[in-house]
Amino acid sequence: MITTLILFLSRIRFFLNKKFSLLFTFVLLTSCSIDSNNNIETNKPLVLTTFTVLADISRNVAGDRLHVKSITKEGAEIHGYKPTPSDLILASKADLIVENGLGLELWSKKFTNAAGNIPKIVLSEGITPLLIEGDVYKGKPNPHIWMSPKKAIYYLDKLVEAFSDIDPEGSNTFEENARIYKTKLINLDHQLRESISKIPDKNRVLVTCEGAFSYLANDYGLKEAYLWPVNSESQVTPKRMLKLIKTIKKHQVPTIFCESTVNAKAQLEVARSSGASFGGTFYVDSLSDKNGPAPTYLELLSHNVQLIMEGLLIEKTIN
Ligand SMILES: [Zn+2]
Repeated sequence: MITTLILFLSRIRFFLNKKFSLLFTFVLLTSCSIDSNNNIETNKPLVLTTFTVLADISRNVAGDRLHVKSITKEGAEIHGYKPTPSDLILASKADLIVENGLGLELWSKKFTNAAGNIPKIVLSEGITPLLIEGDVYKGKPNPHIWMSPKKAIYYLDKLVEAFSDIDPEGSNTFEENARIYKTKLINLDHQLRESISKIPDKNRVLVTCEGAFSYLANDYGLKEAYLWPVNSESQVTPKRMLKLIKTIKKHQVPTIFCESTVNAKAQLEVARSSGASFGGTFYVDSLSDKNGPAPTYLELLSHNVQLIMEGLLIEKTIN
């Protein structure tokens, strides 16, 4: 027990900035039992995901056989998240860590190294990514693959394999769960495609805060424009705002949007200055809480497309 504790402490010290290490060590010592009771209450293998969307997808494959938990909470900014000591304690008890990859979770490598020798699966591995087209991230892979329900199907195959490794007896259940969930994703993809096909060509420009919609835009024939390429580089500059205002005016974009995990202030200003309407909040990097519009991954996709339909089906002239 003492050896384990010392190991935890040394990992925490490695992981945290020195200034806060004593404070966090204290937090660690005082919060250990709470975390144990909260999180390891079952004998099921523990699967930790880096964000809530992956947790929901994972639960659909895991069913009741695994205890799935997200490290980041609903509403958290996930690209530049700063893990806490209790995140690290939790991770050290995990049987599997599930991450998206492609540079999405900037904090993940250091975090999983500090957590110890825990098996990790990177869901985007092997999928050919779309590249970011503009700004300082030009040419880098866009990590938001799950925004395409068709591509998310590849995530399910990877989860079945990884879950079967930690719970071999559950293998058939995972495969069956994934099959059922795949059918739901395929059906939803058809519905979303059918809806978006109704948007007239001249209104097919999707304006968001983060450039997180490339996969959705690519699947359903939309063009995209955004304030910043990824949230890890979300500085709002007058240049970026002016460029977006110009695009909105040029294409007569009736409605623009922003996402739940970032501040919409600059986008509201872009809307005001360009004459476009502000169409509401998309969910991309995080689910909503259970009372919100996107408590599951499938509802997240439906909610976004519903907002797109409400915003881009209207006739509006911008001067
Ligand atoms: Zn993002």
